[in-house]
Amino acid sequence: MSFADESSYLSQDIGEVDPDVARLLRAEVERQAETLEMIASENFTSQAVMQAVGSVLTNKYAEGLPHRRYYGGCEVVDQVEELAIERAIEVFGCEHVNVQPHSGATANEAAYQAVLTPGDRVLAMALAHGGHLSHGLKVNFSGRLYEFHHYGVRRGDCRIDMDQVAQMAREVRPRLIVAGASAYPRIIDFPAFREIADEVGALLMVDMAHIAGLVAGGVHPSPIGIADIVTTTLHKSLGGPRAGMIMCRADLGSAVDRAVFPGLQGGPLMHVIAGKAVALGHALTDEFRDRQRQVVVNTSVLADGLLGGGVALVTGGSDNHLILVDLSGTELTGADAEVRLDRAGITVNKNGIPFDERPPTVTSGLRIGTPALTTRGLKEVEMAEIARIISAALVPEVSESELGSLRERSRAISDRFPLYPRLVSGSAIA
Ligand SMILES: *Cc1c(COP(=O)(O)O)cnc(C)c1O
Repeated sequence: MSFADESSYLSQDIGEVDPDVARLLRAEVERQAETLEMIASENFTSQAVMQAVGSVLTNKYAEGLPHRRYYGGCEVVDQVEELAIERAIEVFGCEHVNVQPHSGATANEAAYQAVLTPGDRVLAMALAHGGHLSHGLKVNFSGRLYEFHHYGVRRGDCRIDMDQVAQMAREVRPRLIVAGASAYPRIIDFPAFREIADEVGALLMVDMAHIAGLVAGGVHPSPIGIADIVTTTLHKSLGGPRAGMIMCRADLGSAVDRAVFPGLQGGPLMHVIAGKAVALGHALTDEFRDRQRQVVVNTSVLADGLLGGGVALVTGGSDNHLILVDLSGTELTGADAEVRLDRAGITVNKNGIPFDERPPTVTSGLRIGTPALTTRGLKEVEMAEIARIISAALVPEVSESELGSLRERSRAISDRFPLYPRLVSGSAIA
C-alpha cells in the first residue's frame, strides 16, 4: 500500500476517521449559518483563507525569518511569508511588519518585550472602560511584568478623556502609552495621543485589533506613521484567520523581530501565515473597501434603529463597527439580555460599560458588532429589521413565545444570506 492510497491513515476523510469531531464541525457550520452573528470581535473568513489554514503548511517548521531560517526545506514557505509581508506593507503602508504572532495578545506581548524592560511604566485604557486584558490587567502577563496605569472615558459623554490622558502621562512619566480598545464605539484620536507621548518622551503603541479592517478600508484614521508600534489581530474586522501581526517604524524592526522569535515564540504557524497572505490580498480589493464602508453604515443604521426603539447606547451612537447597549437604567442585566438575544436568534456578548455598577460576570451592557453580518451580505434594510428584533427582545415583559417569534424573524434573515453553501450542503467540512 502506498501513502497516496485513499484508504491510508494520511488520506482518509475526517468523516471516516473521526465521526465525533466531524459531527461537531458540521454542527458548528450549521449554527453559524442559522443564527445572526453579532459578536463585535468575530467575522466570517473566506473559504480561501480556510483552505490556506487547512493546508500542508501546518507540517513545516520555519523558525527564523525568510532566508534566515533554522530549518531546511523553507524555500516555499519563505515565499509565503514574503507575500504576507509585502501585502501587509501595501495594505497599511507600514515601514516594517512581523507576520508571525500567533494571536493579538501574543503580538502585544512581543511589542512590549521589544521596547520595555520588566517594571517599566505603561499608560493604557482601563479594561472596565473598553480596554483589553493584555493592556495591564493584574492577572494577565502584562499586569504582572509591567507597571500599568490606566486612563478611562469621561463620565458625561463616555468619550476617551484626552485631558486625563495628558495629566496622567505627566504624572506617571510612562515609557509607553497604549491606545486601542475592545469595546469603544468612537473614533480614536491618534494624533492627540502622539502629541501627549511626545510631550512626556514616551513611545506610542496603537493596538488596532478591533478596527484593523476599518483602517485597511479607509473608514477609520490610520495609526500608521503616527504610532511607533501598531499591533493587530487579523480575525476581527479584517476578516482573516485567527492570528496577530506587529507593524513598526523601520528602526524598531529588529527589536520587534527578536521579541517575536526567539523572545516569545518558537516555530511560526506557516499555514496561518498563508491565510494572512490571502486575507491581506482580499484587503487590497475594492470589494473589501466597499464592505468596510458598509460595516460603518450598517452600525449607524443599527444604532439609529435601537435608539428609535427606546434602547440607550453608550456615547449615544457609534462611528465604527460596534455599539454598546447601556442597560444601566433598567432592570435587565447584560447577562439576561445576552440570553434573551440568544433565544431571539442573535449572538452577542454581555459587556461591562463605563462606570458599571454590576460585576463583570453580570454587567449592564451588551456589545453588538456588524462586521460578520456585513461580510455575509446584510445591508441597511436587514439592520433596521435586526434593530426592531433586538428592541422587542429587550422589552422588560417579553414572553418566551414572543422570543420564539423573534427567532423566526432572525432565521428568515439568515436564510436569505447563505453562509458557506458548499460546507452546509455537506460536500466538504472545511
Ligand atoms: C481581541 C483583542 C486582542 C487579543 O487578541 P487575541 O487574538 O484574542 O489574543 C488584543 N487587543 C485588543 C484591543 C483586542 O480587542
